[in-house]
Amino acid sequence: MAEESDQQVYARRRQAMVERQIAGRGITSSVVLDAMGSVPREAFLPPSMREFAYEDSPLPINEEQTISQPYIVAYMVDALQLTGGGRILEVGTGSGYAAAVLGEIGDRVVTLERYQSLADSARGVLDSLGYDNVEVIYTDGTLGWSEKAPYDAIVVAAGGPEVPESLKQQLAIGGRLVIPVGPAQTEQALVRVTRVSESEFREEHLTEVRFVPLVGDAGWEDRRGNHPNKRAPVARAAPSHAAQESNDATTSELVAQAAEPIDDIDEGEIDKMLERIGDSRVVLIGEASHGTSEFYRFRARITRALIEKKGFNFVAVEADWPDASRVDHYVRHRQTPPSEWTAFSRFPTWMWRNEEVRDFVDWLREYNAGIDDADKRVGFHGLDLYSLFTSIDAVLDYLDEVDPEAAMTARERYGCLTPWQADPMTYGRAAVSGRYRECEDDAVAMLVELLNKRMTYTDQDGERFLDAVQNARLIANAERYYRSMYSGYSDSWNLRDQHMFDTLESLLSHGGQGTKAVVWEHNSHIGDASATDMLARGQHNVGQLCREAYGDDAYLIGFGTHSGTVAAATDWDDPMEVKQVRPSLEGSWERIFHETGIPAFTLPLRHVPLPELDKRLHGIYLERAIGVIYRPETERASHYFKARLADQFDEYVWIDQTRAVTPLSSKTLEGVPETYPFGL
Ligand code: SAH
Repeated sequence: MAEESDQQVYARRRQAMVERQIAGRGITSSVVLDAMGSVPREAFLPPSMREFAYEDSPLPINEEQTISQPYIVAYMVDALQLTGGGRILEVGTGSGYAAAVLGEIGDRVVTLERYQSLADSARGVLDSLGYDNVEVIYTDGTLGWSEKAPYDAIVVAAGGPEVPESLKQQLAIGGRLVIPVGPAQTEQALVRVTRVSESEFREEHLTEVRFVPLVGDAGWEDRRGNHPNKRAPVARAAPSHAAQESNDATTSELVAQAAEPIDDIDEGEIDKMLERIGDSRVVLIGEASHGTSEFYRFRARITRALIEKKGFNFVAVEADWPDASRVDHYVRHRQTPPSEWTAFSRFPTWMWRNEEVRDFVDWLREYNAGIDDADKRVGFHGLDLYSLFTSIDAVLDYLDEVDPEAAMTARERYGCLTPWQADPMTYGRAAVSGRYRECEDDAVAMLVELLNKRMTYTDQDGERFLDAVQNARLIANAERYYRSMYSGYSDSWNLRDQHMFDTLESLLSHGGQGTKAVVWEHNSHIGDASATDMLARGQHNVGQLCREAYGDDAYLIGFGTHSGTVAAATDWDDPMEVKQVRPSLEGSWERIFHETGIPAFTLPLRHVPLPELDKRLHGIYLERAIGVIYRPETERASHYFKARLADQFDEYVWIDQTRAVTPLSSKTLEGVPETYPFGL
């Protein structure tokens, strides 16, 4: 069979999109379905995004704007009740995609855009596709376009505080105006206004939607200093300030009142935060990326205070157990020889092998040096489960020493997993395909056997026994984890977070009553999943499990930033790059905090000091998450999710401008002692 051309692939996807996303959701108008089936959406996207042209989502275009989700375009066009022909006005050209859809239906379409660059590029695409009935005009569209009025239909692709009077006046009698309206700049009601007579209008509420803001004279105020040519409006509305009336202060202004500024990331005063943390047993400190220097440093700042002033006993981090145990060995000045592997030598190395972490580790070793009782020294542990094979080696080494007979059984059992040594992910695929035996029973049996021999083994060395058990637990859970990656995403996510939580619990109980832990993980693990999109996907996480288990004794601290640089890769196993972090999106928590104008602050969320702010902080906005991978090209789709911030965290740390972490270089590591965990 001949290979499909790009054109054919797109056409096929477009047809599937119309069937599943549009007709499948109840849109029946053949005028709308035909138009949606005719416009090549990929042509309106930057090349890097064309792959996603027929996905069910909005996508970023230039000027921080978006091309609407296909379904919402269809929904709005449907709401215009078009039957073919007529004069149509669109406000908010953006990419020009919706204008093309309207061009398929109407006789004449006028579309208005307040960014010159977007207007120009939309015009170019529309021309090249032959839409000569569509006219793109660069102007403030809240005032409409009186030259071609009246219109049979007007559609606004951005959300304003209210329906602009000027647009209503440009409707023909019987004409329909569809526009998102709402006081918040994120959630709006989609409203249809029908002009019943010269002076009578009927208004209907259609559904809830979310659009980028309508900015202009009869819309929201411009915050970016972009001023399209001012024109004299035909029917000028009385200036309205609906937003200000409903509540005088913006959320950013209220946040600024409640915020506690941080004057120094490394040494700044945090007494009030420590007071709020009170007697919590588990303090979980997040990060909005795995490669931002300020996050690591301020996290260390809080952690040092928790250790020094509140006697916290260990730090547990989002790293694999055996790697972190190398650090633990070092910071606790242990006498047994350290294991042989190099800590954090696997992708993503910069996440732990960086100057920020090294500074903290050196501090902790120094701090522990002042504690004579070795058992009282502060530990450093890993909660994650990606070290299947290092962990197998660790268990075998341990058993070789304490119980050579058991070591033989262990070799046999773990042998089931060794064919996949190089790439454990392929184990999952092979196991699920059924061509290979699953190794679950063997891995679990080994863990049970170790636990059963607790009495015998702990006699010799309790710490080393704990280490072996954690590795055996990791092997059993990692086996299931890799297998579940092939059956369902939330399944494997939940397994991993459950493993991290179980490891934390077992460390707390190993430490005995009154043991206190600091946890360092990404926001997505330590912020309560039930206050985010994860809830709908059936996912839970460490933060949520901690709240369920410890109630108010768990204290969750989230982090965020507006822009700067970050250390991240483009794909799994790719080299680290220093990437630019895009300015935060309109409609995000980040944008609200950015607009406070305060460079860095902490914000109490468990007890918000201002009632109106408290209410708003429980609202839903977008939140950005950058992991070890950062794809700015598809940022909205790849890195933003929705969250109720005050339900997700007990406290939030904002650092407006941030820089990438500095990975350790071979030069900085020259001449370090053999016990040094970051050695090469
Ligand atoms: N219909 C578009 C979606 C565009 S998003 C598409 O299919 O791609 C909304 C657009 O409205 C943005 O490009 C934004 O710049 C524009 N916009 C916001 N306020 C505006 C105003 N007052 N006048 C004209 N355009 C405006």
